[in-house]
Amino acid sequence: LSDRLGGILDKLTRRGALTDADVSEALREVRRALIEADVALPVVKSFTDKVRQRAIGHEVVKSVTPGQQVVKIVHDQLVEMLGSDAEPIDLNAPAPLAIMMVGLQGSGKTTSTAKIALRLTSQEKRKVLMASLDTRRPAAQEQLKVLGEQTGIDTLPIVAGQTPVQIAGRAMTAARLGGYDVVMLDTAGRTHIDEALMAEMAEIKSSAEPHEILLVADSLTGQDAVNLATSFDERVGITGIVLTRMDGDGRGGAALSMRAVTGKPVKLIGTGEKSDALEDFHPSRIADRILGMGDIVSLVEKAAREIDQEKSAKMAARMQKGVFDLEDLAEQLKQMEKLGGMSGIMGMMPGVGKIKKQMEGANIDDRMIKRQVAIIQSMTPQERRKPDLLKASRKKRIAAGSGVAVADVNKLLKMHRQMADMMKKMGKGKGLLGKMMGGM
Ligand code: GDP
Ligand code: MG
Repeated sequence: LSDRLGGILDKLTRRGALTDADVSEALREVRRALIEADVALPVVKSFTDKVRQRAIGHEVVKSVTPGQQVVKIVHDQLVEMLGSDAEPIDLNAPAPLAIMMVGLQGSGKTTSTAKIALRLTSQEKRKVLMASLDTRRPAAQEQLKVLGEQTGIDTLPIVAGQTPVQIAGRAMTAARLGGYDVVMLDTAGRTHIDEALMAEMAEIKSSAEPHEILLVADSLTGQDAVNLATSFDERVGITGIVLTRMDGDGRGGAALSMRAVTGKPVKLIGTGEKSDALEDFHPSRIADRILGMGDIVSLVEKAAREIDQEKSAKMAARMQKGVFDLEDLAEQLKQMEKLGGMSGIMGMMPGVGKIKKQMEGANIDDRMIKRQVAIIQSMTPQERRKPDLLKASRKKRIAAGSGVAVADVNKLLKMHRQMADMMKKMGKGKGLLGKMMGGM
């Protein structure tokens, strides 16, 4: 697939902003990749619509094609939608805290119950009790007991003839008496979603009041993923998703579908049958897998990095000479935005504590950086090189052009003056700042 995409994309090798045609052409391939990865169709549609809006007009990085640029935008949007940070299981509640596992039969609930219990025991040092509420399959409770013996985790003793709700009640009482931190409630599934299953889950939920309700789903779940996730979420209310069988050849499109319709995070992924085959969910890795175009993404990232390095090197050279005009400031601000905002950067530089404090006082965040860049962009090239030209009438024009107050323009100019002074001093000294900027 990457080859096919590459072929089409190579035809379009020019720089500039992405046009409607570039985006449409690349998105056709992206759509196919998403469908091959089992992403549900309505999600494919809403996702590509979102990407289209974001991509058109976006600048193409030097040395990549427009199509490659679109793939990178798609990837970033995927990561964003999948949830940018790995979200752990929330253990922030008084003990004993219940974690309820729900899902269809064969999705991997019982296996994942033991995996999570093992992880909470060994990594989080919690005392965990596992209980099977699966009274439907005769061997189900036995299966969990065996897993408990294998992993060394306690299971609730099996008592015949109890309902799931009764077992849940007994598990919570046993946990309270036994000083357990966490109770894992493994429930029974069905081959398909039905009212009886939902009613049973809702009943268990209201009696055990679990802190987490994790929907366990096979990563090969295709178009059903939306219905599955919506039903469980609407009827029972899930707090997260566990995606199993990621060791197979499933591309994991279900992760995107389920996340998109419920907004609930994928917290963990199962990568094998063994009790330690459980991993944190990494949105970027799954995005690569769903898209199947990881090579293109890293290519574009590399190209962007090279350009940043070129720019930094140029700027460092200027600073060594003590030159720092508003054009440089704008460039610097853009870099800072990329690297986590002003305070992040200033924190990396020694000897700039005072300015840093002032900036914190001025509450410089990403939005502020964008505004400052806009102010500079409203100036003429001449003004950027010679800020001294900026008298009252020009300031008014610039403020109007960038939608800010004249006071904001003044603030920016003051900041520039301070930074320019600092650059001059340091540039004449050991060139420390220049070196630091060069290394950025
Ligand atoms: P349940 O009906 O939802 O409780 O499903 P089980 O936990 O009993 O799992 C059904 C089957 O799937 C078992 O044979 C498990 O070993 C297997 N299984 C569960 N999770 C994974 C996984 O992440 N990878 C692989 N390869 N197999 C898994
Ligand atoms: Mg089971």
